[in-house]
Amino acid sequence: MKKERVLIVGSGPAGLTAALYTGRAQLAPVVIAGNQLGGQVALTHEIENYPGFVDPLSGPELVERMKAQAERFGARVEFDMVESVDFSKGSPFYVKTMAEEYLADVVIVTIGADPRKLGVPGEAEYVGAGVSYCGTCDGFFFRGKDITVVGGGDSAIEEALFLTRFANTVNIIHRRDELRAGVQLQKRAFSNEKISFTWDSVVEEILGEDGTGVTGVRLKNLKTGEVVDKPTEGVFIFIGHDPNNAVFGDQIALNENGYIITDQRYRTNVDGVFAAGEIQDEIWRQVATSVGQGTSAGMSAIHWLENHEETLQELDALPEAGD
Ligand code: NAP
Repeated sequence: MKKERVLIVGSGPAGLTAALYTGRAQLAPVVIAGNQLGGQVALTHEIENYPGFVDPLSGPELVERMKAQAERFGARVEFDMVESVDFSKGSPFYVKTMAEEYLADVVIVTIGADPRKLGVPGEAEYVGAGVSYCGTCDGFFFRGKDITVVGGGDSAIEEALFLTRFANTVNIIHRRDELRAGVQLQKRAFSNEKISFTWDSVVEEILGEDGTGVTGVRLKNLKTGEVVDKPTEGVFIFIGHDPNNAVFGDQIALNENGYIITDQRYRTNVDGVFAAGEIQDEIWRQVATSVGQGTSAGMSAIHWLENHEETLQELDALPEAGD
């Protein structure tokens, strides 16, 4: 059993930033990276909206820089997955990964949320080559193009409106004949000349060619059964997000959509457990906002440890920063 002061679950911008802050406080945080170092941002082709980087940089490059910066201050990144946790006895918290068992005085959960997938042929193949789950990230690359948005909720309509800044036309495909999105967003979408709707329809396949990327979508009308191929140069999918709450769901309070509930200090309902990034933020989902939340959660964890100095577990050996 490894004893640690700070265990961070998740290695996206929130987790790596929490690691930077707790590392600089000489707490030698351990980051359990999960199956994708950097989380969703590592899948992003180019990032142009992270302040300070005038020339666009790739998601993986930003992640590597964040990791290197945290490691410089003593953070240790383990390529491991959390299997189960037991928060019922309070701090120190028991965390079991595939490779280790840990007891950690504080835990910071930054395990993220994944965009829900359609699960149709062509979707996985053309991610980054015409299939996207983020208009803010990728819209700029679709200037003057005819694109498709899938979904009928607030995200789909808000993103479709945003994408009209770049795209020539935006066709929204929705499985029913009325939108779930709020009335104001609906009004704006219906009055936008670039936006059209295909109702009662689902995407059965995303069509494309090697080298070119997405060329079209195969649509099925759920009322008539008719199947048509419709040309398009990009498919933006906004059919909801799934917070990665499987391991923590029965241990921490979640909201009605499955996101961890935190207060302004990024504390969860379990004293000594903090959460930051998209596992607790279902609205903004930006690298910059996750970095800010990771900062706050890291600082809250530092304060928590200062206030509980008397009762912290004795560590086997705390490595020096930079080791
Ligand atoms: P959402 O409200 O759950 O909407 C998901 C949409 O995708 C629905 O229209 C749903 O269709 C459709 N859908 C789900 N699974 C599908 C599938 N397999 N194939 C085709 N279509 C599918 O998700 P969201 O839009 O991401 O919003 C999440 C939360 O954040 C909501 O509470 C929302 O109000 C909030 N939000 C608010 C704002 C804002 O206020 N400006 C902006 C973004 C998000 P059905 O309608 O038929 O179920």
